[in-house]
Amino acid sequence: MSGDRNRPMGDSTRVVGAGRRPEWTQGIVNTPVWRASTILYDNVADLRARGGPDTHHRLFYGRRGTPTQWTLADALTELEPGAEATFLYPSGVAAVSAALLSVLSPGDELLCTDSAYDPTRSFASGFLKRFGVTTRYYDPLIGAGIADLIGDKTRAILMESPGSLTFEVQDVPAICTAAKARGVTTLLDNTWATPLRFRAIEHGVDLTILACTKYVVGHSDVMLGSVTAAEGHYASLRDTSFQLGQVASPDDSWLGSRGLRTMAVRLDRHEASALQIARWLAERPEVAQVLHPALPSCPGHDIFMRDFAGGAGLFGFVLADGGERERAALIDTLRLFGIGYSWGGYESLAIPVDPARYRTATKPVFAGPLVRLQIGLEDPADLIADLDAGLAAYRAALGA
Ligand SMILES: *Cc1c(COP(=O)(O)O)cnc(C)c1O
Repeated sequence: MSGDRNRPMGDSTRVVGAGRRPEWTQGIVNTPVWRASTILYDNVADLRARGGPDTHHRLFYGRRGTPTQWTLADALTELEPGAEATFLYPSGVAAVSAALLSVLSPGDELLCTDSAYDPTRSFASGFLKRFGVTTRYYDPLIGAGIADLIGDKTRAILMESPGSLTFEVQDVPAICTAAKARGVTTLLDNTWATPLRFRAIEHGVDLTILACTKYVVGHSDVMLGSVTAAEGHYASLRDTSFQLGQVASPDDSWLGSRGLRTMAVRLDRHEASALQIARWLAERPEVAQVLHPALPSCPGHDIFMRDFAGGAGLFGFVLADGGERERAALIDTLRLFGIGYSWGGYESLAIPVDPARYRTATKPVFAGPLVRLQIGLEDPADLIADLDAGLAAYRAALGA
């Protein structure tokens, strides 16, 4: 290998070094947990000097953060070329709602992908509606056609790619180009891909959102969210978030940083195992369709191949036949897959999903019931053997 140290660094190198500053770590590898509410000043002049709206990297009051939160926020900023700064939240949902509130005002319209995470839809139909913002849902495969939906009141477009439960990959660059031409702000829920698989801001996004609860934390034990803003979009995000009193705890942020350091190797393993299992499922007669962006059977697969640097561990599959009972027979038989919400941890999960329930703009038609899998860090051969037993139970239930 050549010794050019000026070439762009790889993902594993970037996640190891990002956000670590000697003045915060004091020689310790991980920035320790700095817990604080009160910060003591030297004198009145010092107290006056350290205030102001922008207290990033300046101890002011616990709610405005300490080096523990700044380490993770800065690391996430460094992973998104073109980013200005990152704000952390106590959950992914808090990140989605603060990002939307930083952009929208009463009378505005939000265009939201019909494949959005269901709690995001609840925020739109609940809080945003009461606040005087209307929401229109669009076909996740609309691409440049979004231009026809942008009206005088449209202020923001919320994308999620791949979509929750249905995994459609969106043409984010085309949507962002159309939005920019009309002065509309773009937001992307990038939780599935993370900045390691899809560099949102480079692809034109203004505000990119992560449920850090998933791959950043990576161990199913912390709730955390983030919004990373492109140049010029941070001040409004920060002011709105401060006004809402948003703060991620130092302990949770510390666990987020700790998880981030291994995210590149974890994602590589999630990706490889998930792809192997998705291909195995695609060959099975019990399976009508595999909704994995790296397979041609997933809507938007060509865009995935064009825009993404790789895959992740979450995907879905459609059973050829049967209903709730037969699907439950499959899932209940699995021993290595837990039955539970969320994903991105080291352990595999399986849940029944029914996306049609949430859709309003488009109704995707599936041959049978859907199962969503989170492929963890176990040996993929063991997971395949487990799924094989699950499919046998499904066949038995169909015949019964
Ligand atoms: C889980 C999830 C969220 C919400 O994150 P929480 O930390 O659980 O609040 C948002 N968007 C997507 C796509 C998610 O999967």
